[in-house]
Formats: sequence, C-alpha cells, structure tokens
Amino acid sequence: MMIDVQPTASHFIDGEYCEDEAGAPIGCIFAATGEVIARLHSATPTIVDRAMESAARAQKEWAARPPVERGRVLRRVADILRERNRELSELETLDTGKPLQETLVADATSGADALEYFGGLAATITGETVPLGGDFVYTIREPLGVCVGIGAWNYPTQIACWKAAPALACGNAMVFKPSEMTPLCALKLAEIFIEAGAPAGLFNVVQGYGDVGAALATDPRTDKVSLTGSVPTGRKVYAVAADGIRHVTMELGGKSPLIVFDDADIENAVSAAINGNFYSSGQICSNGTRVFVHKAIEDAFVARLVERTRAAKIGDPRDEDTQLGPMISKVQRDKVLSYIEKAKDEGATFAHGGGVPDGFDKGFYIEPTVFTGVTDGMTVACEEVFGPVLSVLTFSDESEVVARANDTPFGLAAGVFTRDLTRAHRVVAALEAGTCWINTYNLTPVEAPFGGVKLSGVGRENSKAAIEHYSQVKSVYVAMGDVEAPY
Ligand code: NAD
Repeated sequence: MMIDVQPTASHFIDGEYCEDEAGAPIGCIFAATGEVIARLHSATPTIVDRAMESAARAQKEWAARPPVERGRVLRRVADILRERNRELSELETLDTGKPLQETLVADATSGADALEYFGGLAATITGETVPLGGDFVYTIREPLGVCVGIGAWNYPTQIACWKAAPALACGNAMVFKPSEMTPLCALKLAEIFIEAGAPAGLFNVVQGYGDVGAALATDPRTDKVSLTGSVPTGRKVYAVAADGIRHVTMELGGKSPLIVFDDADIENAVSAAINGNFYSSGQICSNGTRVFVHKAIEDAFVARLVERTRAAKIGDPRDEDTQLGPMISKVQRDKVLSYIEKAKDEGATFAHGGGVPDGFDKGFYIEPTVFTGVTDGMTVACEEVFGPVLSVLTFSDESEVVARANDTPFGLAAGVFTRDLTRAHRVVAALEAGTCWINTYNLTPVEAPFGGVKLSGVGRENSKAAIEHYSQVKSVYVAMGDVEAPY
C-alpha cells in the first residue's frame, strides 16, 4: 500500500477542495511508523464562514427536493462506498493505524449501511393527523437546518456517515469536523457525496483542533451539534450549544461492564471479552473494560483469555494478517502505559501484556493487556483508559454484580453472558446503559439505536430513533368552523 495520501487541500467546501494556509498546521501521522503522511491546515474564521454559508444555502435546495430523490442520492453514496471499499479501507488504515483486517469490514461498510438505511427511510419521514372531532391537527416533521458534526479519531469514516446519513435524510445540511488526528477519510466522503448527486455545500468538511469545533458549535447558523468524543469535551460543547438553545447529540465515553455468569459458554464469553477490549487496539467507546467473572469460573475464563490473547498477531496494520495495530498517537499510548503502571501500583495482577511489544518501538504499539484481581476502587476500573487494557473483577451474586456494574458515572453499554434466559433479561433491565448485549458484545448494526445514559451522552444514533434527533415537529391546528370570541 502506497503512502501517498496528501489531499488536494485541507477542506472540502461548496463542492470543492479549498485551502487557507494561514490556518495552524496539522500533521497526519501514520501510527504504525510515526511518519507524517499528510500536511493540512486548521480552518481559519474565513474557512468556517464559507462552510457555514454554503451549508445554509445547500440545505434549502436539498430540503426542497422530493424525499425519495434525497434517499436515492444517499443510497448512491452507499453504493460508491461499497465499490471503493478496498481503497477507502486502506486510507482508513493510514488515517488511524487500525489493521486492514478490521477496516475492510468495519468502516466504509458500516458507513454504507447507514447511508443505505437512512436513504431508504428518507421518503417515510412523515407527520401524523390528529382528529379533534371536526377540527384537526396535522404535524410536519421538518429538518433542523445546518447540523455540525464533530468526530473522534477512532472511526473517522463511520462517525462521519453515522451523523451525515440521518441528518441528510431529514433534509439538513452538515458541516463536519473530523478529529485533528484523522483528517483524511471525511474528505473522501465529501467527494463521494458530490459524485452521487448531492448539491455542493450539503456536506462540507473543515479541519481543525478543538477551537474550530467550538467556533462551529457557537456559529449562529448552527442548528444542531452532534459530537462523538470524550466527556470533558462533551461538557464544553453541550454548554456552548445551550447558549443558542441548539439541539445536541452527545456520544461520549464509557466504562462498560461485561458480566459473565457461571453458566455462560466460556469460549463465547472469552471471544466477546477479546472483541470488546482489543479490537481497534481498545479504542472503542463501548468497550466492556470491566469484565465481571463469576468466581466459580474465574480460573477457566482467565486461562482461556490469556491463552487466546497470547496468540494475537501484532504487526503492520497494512498487512492483512495483522490482528492488532498501534494506538492512534504517542500521547494516547503513553496515557495507556501510565494507566497500566497505576494498576500495578494499586495491586492489580498482571496476567498478560503490559508494555510495548518487542520490535515495535517505532509507532505507537502496546500489547493487549489483561489484569486480574482488579477491585472496584482501582483507577483502571473507574476511568476510561481507551486502550487495549482488560480488567477482570470477580463476583458471586447477581444483585451484587448489578449494583457494582452500575456504580459508575458512565452508562454507554453493558453485556451479559448466561444461558439462563430470565436472568439475562432481568439483569439487562437493571443495568444503567443505553446499549446492551446478551451473549455477544459490541455489535452495532444500523437498525439498532446506539447511545448512552448518564455521563455517556444524550440522543441516539442509528435506527429510526436518529430521525427524532435530526428533525423537529411542526404542529398545525386546522379549524373547520367559526371562531368563537367572548366579545
Ligand atoms: P476528544 O473529546 O478529545 O475530541 C473529540 C472531538 O472534539 C475532536 O474532533 C476534537 O477536535 C473536538 N473538540 C475538542 N475540544 C473541543 C471544543 N472545546 N469544542 C468543540 N470541539 C472540540 O475525543 P477523542 O480523544 O478524539 O476520542 C476519544 C473519546 O471519544 C473517548 O472518550 C471515547 O469514548 C469517545 N468516543 C465515543 C463514541 C460514542 O459513540 N459514544 C465513539 C467513539 C469515541
């Protein structure tokens, strides 16, 4: 795979690439080698202004198109994403450092699913009629206007598509700011929108650091902000959006529990723990990082977990055999290493991993790491690590484990492994999490709502639920008789 990914320019506005070299430099670093593979610029106020202006204009034109036609454009985008999956996956791998083995099946394909799904829904977004015995009310589901999307660095294509697809299906326009660490993929998506027949300006991409995100979130032309990021950023963006009473969707961090009862299929539970902790080198918001294992099966579970984790193939993410690539950046790698040190200091037991793998000192690699003997108060069990670090905690009683699983300010996701059908549903009903899995983990099909409770966020992405978050209802009262007045 060639490393020739310098885009034509930093931003994509009003149907074309554009540049303003006065913006602060952004270097896109390939996480496997530490090389700078593209040089871009953060948006200046002029760039932000152009993006907002063209989005506001395009939104009016787009909303006036018949919904079935809007849907067709989105489905065409889905088709192009699938046709170019290899090329887009290679770019995703360079942008993020995630292994090609993952990106080929999880990124452009997931984005295509969202565009296909919401493309199909576009023509079904309708209001209702409310009879009042003569008079009646009808409702119109209207777009919000210009939506701002702000992305994290772990899934740049997927995040852009999960936000743009429902937004555009509802008749909105979007200005998207990718993470400064992964600026490349959203630009390709913007090109594809134009190729598929979207009006210029409907999906604009501006690059930048947090200050550009803040400028977009406070722009008077912004009607909604949808953020995928950390809780501290969420607090800031939510607060500035509140100033203009703007709509928000917040997809934030987590510290999710994965509960394995003593009657669980251990092999499946181990598979889920591996997927839910080490996929994308652990850089997934919904990861089940607190693995609560029933005491009766702890030894068997940990033995299989370690045996299978030891077999993970760490390597260059461009090699299709590689199962584990690097972390996104040195900063993130060092942060994870410091969490590992802290876990050791606080008394957790190393079962596997814990450092930089031999021969991988270039790039930002870290071994998949398993701690046992973790207790609820340890830092590694309380804070989001956002790296390949799995903590095994033990329990003996159902109500005890539910209480401990819920004892966190986060509430993004949760998983339960058991063969007992009623227990599975009882436990899931008691868990404080927006997204739950029974006997699997981390599957996020577009048909299912995804999002968090408590500090993990507000609003939902995917599914019909997303339509509610990208549209608003106008209520129209129709009088059929005379108007009565007291005088
Ligand atoms: P981050 O919060 O540092 O950054 C997210 C985005 O916000 C970036 O584009 C950044 O430039 C921008 N930003 C930063 N400060 C801003 C400000 N003041 N105003 C507006 N925008 C600002 O997050 P990250 O490190 O890129 O991503 C990791 C975090 O994202 C983790 O906490 C993870 O759990 C979370 N995440 C959540 C989901 C989800 O769907 N719930 C998915 C992926 C990642």
